[in-house]
Amino acid sequence: MIIIYSPIHTHHNPPHEFLDGRFIKFTEAPIRAETIYKALVESQIAPIIPPENFGLEPIHAVHPKEYVDFLRTIYYRWVKNGGTTEAALPGIIPTRTLTRYSPSPLAQIGYYSMDISAPVTSGTYLAAVDAAKCALTGASWLIQGKEKAAYALCRPPGHHAAKDVMGGFCYLNNAAIAAEYLTEGHTKRVAILDIDVHGGNGTQAIFYDRPDVLFISMHGSPEWEYPYFTGYADQRGEGEGEGFTINYPLEQGTDDARFLGVVDEALEHIKKFDPSYIVLSAGFDTFKDDPLGKFQITTPCYETIGAKVAALGLPVLAVQEGGYAVSELGDNVVSLLRGLMKS
Ligand SMILES: [Zn+2]
Repeated sequence: MIIIYSPIHTHHNPPHEFLDGRFIKFTEAPIRAETIYKALVESQIAPIIPPENFGLEPIHAVHPKEYVDFLRTIYYRWVKNGGTTEAALPGIIPTRTLTRYSPSPLAQIGYYSMDISAPVTSGTYLAAVDAAKCALTGASWLIQGKEKAAYALCRPPGHHAAKDVMGGFCYLNNAAIAAEYLTEGHTKRVAILDIDVHGGNGTQAIFYDRPDVLFISMHGSPEWEYPYFTGYADQRGEGEGEGFTINYPLEQGTDDARFLGVVDEALEHIKKFDPSYIVLSAGFDTFKDDPLGKFQITTPCYETIGAKVAALGLPVLAVQEGGYAVSELGDNVVSLLRGLMKS
């Protein structure tokens, strides 16, 4: 097991967000990753290394250059055009009837956003790129056969970000960037298992028409849980990718037994798919005391999940996604990694 972490994430620290109409302190705060890092150091579970540099090429393999350039420059253009210096946040999002592109920075932030949960600050781009580098470093170690398992402590998270859409605290899709890299130029099959309590809409969209990347997401049903408009069981991929997206919308109060039963089912699909690598989009907002989730998963359950994934005997890259019960977040991550190390 190798762990990859970069303190650059602290540069991304938006002051606030809107949640259910309330103007609140930003939930996806630096303390999350700092707490996880501290728990990993204390547990001495595995060596922790900084990310390597891969340039922008592997990021552009998933996110168009225009979008990455937007992310790099929008904060400064936003401020220059009269936006607040705290963070760029959309005032208008062009859905359905409003579809034309606008060159105005005040409009562009909405053009590339699916919600108002992804504020862009002066440090967001730097942090997002470094998070992607953490995931890529883990992927690279697996490709080189240096380790059987890697954990990328990514912040900001990524699974809500589609090719050119940000939202839900996510800007660049770390798991998707790593998965694309792990296909080794479309020569290897990769399975992504997303266990965050929220459906991985961004990852789903990125690989929706691809038969070489299996995407399985198990999450709170979009009938009552964010991101609401996606993650339904009948969304199964399209074209050549039909059947290579699998969604498990689950009920409120999902507990360890129910969740593990679905993990078993998901792993059966992965076994049949016969991938070379597994990417685990590791969200911990399934935890029973998470302020954003409505599941009842306990700390020991993450170890069981890890052990089940490890039992497939494939190289696995765990990528940090959500998880907002900060005081238990470190223990939950360590628990998952203990399981993953059982291979
Ligand atoms: Zn989540």
